[in-house]
Amino acid sequence: MFHVTTAVPARTEVCGEKKENESQKYFQPGPQEQERTTVGSPLDNRLDTDRLLSFASAFSYLSRACSLSSKQGIGTMLRLSNKKIPLRLAVRQLHSTANRRRELFDPNNVERASDEVDVCIVGGGPAGLSAAIRLKQLEQEKGKEIRVVLLEKGGEVGSHILSGAVIEPRALNELLPDWQSREDHPLKQPALNTHMRFFTKNASYPIPHPPQMSGKGTYIVSLSQVTAWLGTIAEEMGVEIYPGFAGAGLVFGKDGVVGVRTNEVGLDREGRMKDTFEPGMEFRAKVTLLAEGAHGSLSKEAIRRFKLREGRDPQTYGIGVKEVWRVDPSKHKPGDVLHSMGFPLDWKTYGGGWVYHMADNLVSLGLVVGLDYSNPYLSPYRELQRWKHHPYFKDLLEGATRIAYGARSLNEGGLQSVPKLNFPGGALIGCSAGFVNVAKIKGTHNAMKTGMLAAETAYDVVTDEAASEDPEKSTDMSKYDEAYRNSWVYQDLHEVRNVRPSFNTPLGMFGGVVYSGLDTLFLKGRTPWTFRNTSGLSDAAHTKKAKECKPIEYPPFQPPLSTDLLTSLALTGTNHAEDQPIHLRVRNYIKGENEASAETEGGLSKEHWVEGKDVKREHVRVNVGEYAGLLGRACPAQVYEYVDDEASAAGATDGEGWGGKKLVINSQNCIHCKLCDIKVPSQDITWTPPEGGGGPKYTVT
Ligand SMILES: Cc1cc2nc3c(=O)[nH]c(=O)nc-3n(C[C@H](O)[C@H](O)[C@H](O)COP(=O)(O)OP(=O)(O)OC[C@H]3O[C@@H](n4cnc5c(N)ncnc54)[C@H](O)[C@@H]3O)c2cc1C
Ligand code: SF4
Repeated sequence: MFHVTTAVPARTEVCGEKKENESQKYFQPGPQEQERTTVGSPLDNRLDTDRLLSFASAFSYLSRACSLSSKQGIGTMLRLSNKKIPLRLAVRQLHSTANRRRELFDPNNVERASDEVDVCIVGGGPAGLSAAIRLKQLEQEKGKEIRVVLLEKGGEVGSHILSGAVIEPRALNELLPDWQSREDHPLKQPALNTHMRFFTKNASYPIPHPPQMSGKGTYIVSLSQVTAWLGTIAEEMGVEIYPGFAGAGLVFGKDGVVGVRTNEVGLDREGRMKDTFEPGMEFRAKVTLLAEGAHGSLSKEAIRRFKLREGRDPQTYGIGVKEVWRVDPSKHKPGDVLHSMGFPLDWKTYGGGWVYHMADNLVSLGLVVGLDYSNPYLSPYRELQRWKHHPYFKDLLEGATRIAYGARSLNEGGLQSVPKLNFPGGALIGCSAGFVNVAKIKGTHNAMKTGMLAAETAYDVVTDEAASEDPEKSTDMSKYDEAYRNSWVYQDLHEVRNVRPSFNTPLGMFGGVVYSGLDTLFLKGRTPWTFRNTSGLSDAAHTKKAKECKPIEYPPFQPPLSTDLLTSLALTGTNHAEDQPIHLRVRNYIKGENEASAETEGGLSKEHWVEGKDVKREHVRVNVGEYAGLLGRACPAQVYEYVDDEASAAGATDGEGWGGKKLVINSQNCIHCKLCDIKVPSQDITWTPPEGGGGPKYTVT
C-alpha cells in the first residue's frame, strides 16, 4: 500500500512534463505529427491522461488493496523483508529510505513492501488476460474466491501490443461464447478474401497460399485494441490490473518461485536514489504465470534457471516491422488479406510481407524478417521502406496518411522449440513459451488458449488447501503442461512442425519453399519425421562476419511513402524518462560461477553477471570489428549508435571504446521489440524492464 501512495509523484513526473521535453528533444514535429492530430488519434491527449491515469491507478490500487486485505483478514499488516509488520511501522520505514536519497541503490539491502495474492500474472497481452478472465470465471463457477493480480509494463493495457493481425477466434469463442453480442467488441472486420503474391522489384504474381492461411472465419483486427477490450472485461470480473508496473524479478522461496518483484522507480542514470525513489514491491503468489510475449525478460530467466529448454530446440524468432495507413476510400478493400513472398528480401533471407485491409479505411502493412538472417548489413526497417517503393504500394498508398509505426519480435521455432511449460511455482503461457503457428502467421488463438489451460490448473492449485500450507514452498503446475499436450494447440503446431525448420535443412531456401508447399497442401504434417535444429544454433549464431557479406545499398527515402527512422518513431509515441538507468544492459552471464556459487535462491545457485567498461569494450571489438555494427542497422528504433571515440583512436585500451568507436545507447527510443537481446552476435545485451509505463503508446497496431 505505501508503495503506491508515495510512488505517484514519481510516476507523474515521468509521464508528464519530462516526457514532453524528451520527445521535443528527439523528435522534431514533422508532417506525421500533424497527421496524427488530424486523424483524431487517441494519442493526442495522452500527456494529460497519463497524469490522471497514474493517480487513478494508484487510487484504485490503494482502495482495492485496503478492501482486499480486510476481506482476507490481513488487516493492516504488510510484509517487509520477509516479516509481517503493522502498516504504520511500514510507512515509517519507508520514510527512513528517504534519508538515503542520492545514495547508490543496493538491491540486496532494501526493504520492500509485500502483498499476498493467489495468482500473479506478468503481462497483459492476449495470453495473460485470457488466463485472468478464465480464473475469474472458475471463481464464479466453483464459488471459491481467489485474488488475481496482473502486471502490465505498458502505460495502458494494449499500449505495448503490436501484431498483424488476422486472428482466429477459436479460443475467444471458448472463453467468451457471447462475445459477438457485446457491442463494444473490436472484431468488426471479417477477413473476406485471402490471397498470396510473389513480388519482384517491379511486378507481382498470384501464387497459391497454404490452406492454413485461409481467412475463413477469421477477423482483421488491431490486437492492441482487442487486448484493451479484454482488459476491461477482466477488470469488470474482479482482476486487479496494474498498468505501468513491470515484473522486474522473480521472487524465490525455498524450492522455486513464490512471486514477482516490480521495478524500482526513481533511480537516476547512475543508479542513485532520487527524491522520488520507491523500491519495487513483491507480489507473493501461490502461482506466477509469465505472459510476457516473445522473449520475455522473466521468462528468459525462468527458462535458464529451471533448464526448461533441455531436450528442446532453441527458440528462433522473426522481427515484424509494421505501419498502419489511412487510405483513400477508393483504394480500400475491407476484408482483403494479402501475404507476400519475394521482393524486397533476397533468396537467402526468410520472411515475407502482409497487407490487411482493416475497417475504417485503415490498412495494416508490414514485413517479417527471420532473425536467422546472415548479412549484418541488413536493416529490417530499410527493407520495409524499400518494399513500399514497389508499384503495388505506390498505387495503394497514393493520397494515404501514415498513422502508426512499430516493431515486435515473434516466435518462429514452433512445436520443437516449446520449452517445458511449468516450473516450481508457476508456468509460461502464450508467446512467453512460443506458440505461433508460422504457416498461418498466427499465434493469438494459441496464446489465449494456453492462458486458459494454465488458469484451469492454477485455480485447482490455489484452492487446494493442502498446497497452500507453507508460503515459502512452490506449487506444482505440471498438469498444465499435460493439458497443453492434449489440447488443440498442440495439434495446431504439430501439423506444421516441419514448415519453418525445412528452410534451415540442406534443402535451403528454395527447397524449403517447395517442401512447405507440399507439406501444407498435401502431407499436413502426417509424416513420420520431424526436422530438428540439430546444430543448436541460435538466430545470433547464424550471423556471418561482415567480411563474408556484401554491404546492402538501400535506396533513398521518398517521403511521404518512405521516411527516415526517427520520423517513423515519432508515430509510436515512445518515451522513457531520460534520467533512469539504461534498461539495455551490456553484460555477460558467468555460467561456471553460477553453478559453483554458494549463495542460493529458490534452491538454485545465485546467478552472476559481469558488466563494466571491459565488457563494453569487448562488445565494440566484436560488433564493430567483426559485424560492421549490426545493431546500428537492425534496431528498429535507432537505439544503438557506434560513435567516434577519441581515446581508443589515440590508442587507449582501458576505456569503453575500441578501435576509435564506442557504443551509445539511446534507450529513450526503445520500443521493446527485443531484437537486440536475440540477435546481437556477442550475446551480451540484456533487455530489462525500464521504469513502468515507459515505451511505446500503440493504439492501432
Ligand atoms: C509482426 C507480428 C505479426 C503478427 N501477426 C499475427 C496475426 O496476424 N495473427 C495472429 O494470430 N498472431 C499474429 N502474431 C502473433 C501474436 O501477436 C502473438 O502470438 C500474441 O500477441 C501473443 O500474445 P501474448 O499475450 O503471449 O504476448 P504479447 O501479445 O506480446 O503480450 C505480452 C504483454 O506482456 C507485457 N509484458 C512483457 N514483459 C512484461 C514484464 N516483465 N512486466 C509486465 N508486463 C510485461 C507486454 O507489454 C505485453 O503487453 C504476430 C506477431 C507479430 C510480432
Ligand atoms: S533497443 Fe532492442 S528492444 Fe529496444 S527497440 Fe532496439 S532492438 Fe528493440
